[in-house]
Amino acid sequence: MLTLRTKEKWANSSEGKEVIIEPSVTNAISLYRQIKITDPESGGLLFAKVSADTIHILSLTTPQPLDKATRTFFQREDPKHLIAAKHLYKTSKGEINCIGEWHTHPEPIPTPSSIDRRTWKAFAKNSTFEPIFIIQGQKMLKVFTLATEYTQTLK
Ligand SMILES: [Zn+2]
Repeated sequence: MLTLRTKEKWANSSEGKEVIIEPSVTNAISLYRQIKITDPESGGLLFAKVSADTIHILSLTTPQPLDKATRTFFQREDPKHLIAAKHLYKTSKGEINCIGEWHTHPEPIPTPSSIDRRTWKAFAKNSTFEPIFIIQGQKMLKVFTLATEYTQTLK
């Protein structure tokens, strides 16, 4: 289990929150690593249970037929992502929320683009929680908040 202790103070808490990511989530994301020259960018939403001191990322959505993707571009357009978010929220009685997004990059160690930063700021504006973003590179997965980044090297 990937555990990242955040260092900054979060909007709604005086302590740093612990971000816990289920291995099923990082495993699913790693399947979309852009290893082959033809592999497109992929992405989806991240879902978590948020408590006073933890953000527990439990599940995700994966690329859907109506999303737009090229080698260096991914845009989540398929309504299935938001349908999944609403369904999870409802069936968990509001316990499981959309906490952020993930996508892949065709580079070994991912660096967010200026478009990524802009998209993340827009996402944060519409979010109840301090969002979490994941970029999966070819060799490394990075976890970001708007202010910080954490890295996890794949074996
Ligand atoms: Zn990106």
